[in-house]
Amino acid sequence: MHIHRNEPLALFNTLRLNAKAAAFTAITSAQQLQAAWRWSQEQALPILPLGEGSNIVLAGDVEALMLKMELQGVHLLKSNDHQVELRVQAGENWHAFVDWSLQQGYCGLENLALIPGTVGAAPVQNIGAYGVEIAEYLRRVHVLELHSGVARTLQAHECAFGYRDSIFKAELRDRVVITAIDLVLNRHACPRVEYPALVEYFAGQEAGRIRARDVFDAVVRIRQSKLPDPAVTPNAGSFFKNPVVSPSAADALQQQHPALPVYAQPDGSCKLSAAWMIEFCGWKGRQTDGVAVHKDHALVLVNAGSDSGKALLDLAQAIAADVASQFDIALQIEPRVYGAR
Ligand SMILES: Cc1cc2nc3c(=O)[nH]c(=O)nc-3n(C[C@H](O)[C@H](O)[C@H](O)COP(=O)(O)OP(=O)(O)OC[C@H]3O[C@@H](n4cnc5c(N)ncnc54)[C@H](O)[C@@H]3O)c2cc1C
Repeated sequence: MHIHRNEPLALFNTLRLNAKAAAFTAITSAQQLQAAWRWSQEQALPILPLGEGSNIVLAGDVEALMLKMELQGVHLLKSNDHQVELRVQAGENWHAFVDWSLQQGYCGLENLALIPGTVGAAPVQNIGAYGVEIAEYLRRVHVLELHSGVARTLQAHECAFGYRDSIFKAELRDRVVITAIDLVLNRHACPRVEYPALVEYFAGQEAGRIRARDVFDAVVRIRQSKLPDPAVTPNAGSFFKNPVVSPSAADALQQQHPALPVYAQPDGSCKLSAAWMIEFCGWKGRQTDGVAVHKDHALVLVNAGSDSGKALLDLAQAIAADVASQFDIALQIEPRVYGAR
């Protein structure tokens, strides 16, 4: 195991922000993870797991041992006529794994195609897109506990999954490294195409003839046409969560703003479109201090040449202040912010 000191991180985050990690190493085996854990204990440096850096904002240097999670491998745990259970190591690329699962005839994850990042980061914010969340397919999450150095397994029901949320953003925040996840996938496709963009895409097609691979291809095409590619335009996807409010609060807002999109949730709450509110406040396409709100997507903030995360967070704060004064809604930042401001 080679530990790098003062490692520059610009190439390890999709916003291409410049900051340094006090210490940095890649983890490709359980033994390396144990050795890194012991080293962090000796040095009294906290551990910070890193996947592909697609959901972080570096606002300054990170006083931690950053572990670039590169554990690889997929194992079949169980199989019957209807389902398979797989163990997937944390460092696998999420999209490549989804593609592979469909090639094997395992269905369920197709709506989550093209989400950047690693398998290990996926449970952290319960990745979701096009009407599906990973929580629906997760059985277990395997972790290394950072206070003890002991491996532990959490059942899915212990993970407190919610909209872009989980126990890994709450009680277990900074307390575990996810090493692998167990998923249950279907052998028989039951495509989920009720999300508006997919309804539009498959308009006129008989639902029974749509295959899981068709949904995968559709999601890839829709995402490529809508979202900026971080390799070309540095970004971290949606910068704000869509606010979730009570039906009465949503009603009151819609009285004032009849065009505000409101999505009823299965638990009775209502999700509001943060993008619509940001656009209403006039932020879409605005650029300041080397950072900008994307011209086509008000929820995506882009790094247009800034070195530090400070300008980006200042922009986010200004947007949130405008939305708060216009709608009385507190926007929450979706990516995790690291480094002192
Ligand atoms: C263009 C774009 C589109 C996106 N679209 C979506 C979308 O549709 N839906 C969605 O949900 N998200 C989306 N995202 C956000 C992002 O893809 C996900 O959050 C993804 O899971 C992050 O993976 P990562 O490996 O890059 O994590 P990182 O950014 O490296 O890490 C994110 C957080 O997870 C922690 N973490 C990472 N790995 C581990 C581990 N092994 N154990 C413990 N903690 C860990 C990190 O410490 C950090 O706090 C998008 C991002 C981009 C750039």
